Amino acid sequence: MNIQVSRRRFLQLAGAGAAATTSIAAFGHGEAEAQVAARVRNFKLARATETRNTCTYCSVACGIIMYSRGDVKKGETAEIFHIEGDAEHPTNRGTLCPKGAALLDYVHSKTRTLYPQVRKPGSDKFERISWGDALDRIARLMKDDRDKNLIERNEAGVTVNRWASTGFLAASATTNETAWATYKVVRSTGIVAFDNQARV
Ligand code: SF4
Repeated sequence: MNIQVSRRRFLQLAGAGAAATTSIAAFGHGEAEAQVAARVRNFKLARATETRNTCTYCSVACGIIMYSRGDVKKGETAEIFHIEGDAEHPTNRGTLCPKGAALLDYVHSKTRTLYPQVRKPGSDKFERISWGDALDRIARLMKDDRDKNLIERNEAGVTVNRWASTGFLAASATTNETAWATYKVVRSTGIVAFDNQARV
């Protein structure tokens, strides 16, 4: 709707509005503005600690900023309460896809895996183990399997060094350098089935 209001009429209306406001104050509503201001919440990111990181979901590797309370330097536990895209990150320029936008729920999920677990042969449940035990166990099992199943030569007698009985799944939230080192180590063992978590 397009309403045409002359300058004179506009000033009349403005004057009427000012008079009405004055009348409202006269009726005891002068505190309204102060009461509204008192109920405005503080900016929730004020005094938060900002930590830059990378979204863990896929290989796009968008930059994120995590906001937390709690001073780690004083021995307090950091509690992440807000995550948003990093506007200065060259990959995503502050944007996040729906998965990245839900990262806060991922961080606080009750089903999130926080420590290594193992389900031993014949068992129907997972047991928690230490990181040291997990690494030792992985190394032991990999070594034994490689010793047993490495194919050093193909049928024509050509050296191939294929290890096809163990697979390796790498993470996407790594730097180029980490990815390069991971690739070199895994391929040097002869592992054929090598993929990235981003494709799962
Ligand atoms: S899941 Fe979405 S937000 Fe996370 S890295 Fe991939 S594209 Fe970016």
